[in-house]
Parts: sequence; structure tokens; C-alpha cells
Amino acid sequence: MQGQTITRSIRYHVTGSTGDAYVVTVDPRDTRTACSCPAGSFGKDCKHQRAVRNGEAGRPIVRCTTRPAPRTVSVSPAMRDFAAALEL
Ligand SMILES: [Zn+2]
Repeated sequence: MQGQTITRSIRYHVTGSTGDAYVVTVDPRDTRTACSCPAGSFGKDCKHQRAVRNGEAGRPIVRCTTRPAPRTVSVSPAMRDFAAALEL
């Protein structure tokens, strides 16, 4: 979409065999994964990341942030007063 910056982050909460919860982050651009566990923080391909790739990690937590590009909007003075009154 033009004129907009879309930031997407995909995260999975994966519970390890010892009951610890780790966060696997997926880069939506190249689908590279990263994990918050000790092995993952050393850049290793851990079982949590494999679980995500194999579809065993359940539903992802997807955050999609859309920031509209700054633009000039022409508003009537009455509309501007109305908008200003809303910001109490
Ligand atoms: Zn891991």
C-alpha cells in the first residue's frame, strides 16, 4: 500500500519440555525465526523454532501496525474547532 508504513510482527509462545515458555519471533519478510531460549539466543536452530515451522506451535500472535504517512488535510475552521474540543 502506498503512503503507509506497515510493521508486522509474528510471535509464537512455545512451551518447552521443562515447562518454560519461550517466544519465537518470525520475520515476515524472509520467514527467518528467532527464539528467546538459550540455544536460540546463540543463533541455533532450536526445537521451538522447528515446532513453529512444523505448525505445532498453535496460533501466532500477529501484530499489524499501520502508520499512515503524514499528509496535509484540509479541514474547515468549524471542523478544526470541533476536533480541538474533543482533545480535552
Ligand atoms: Zn528455542
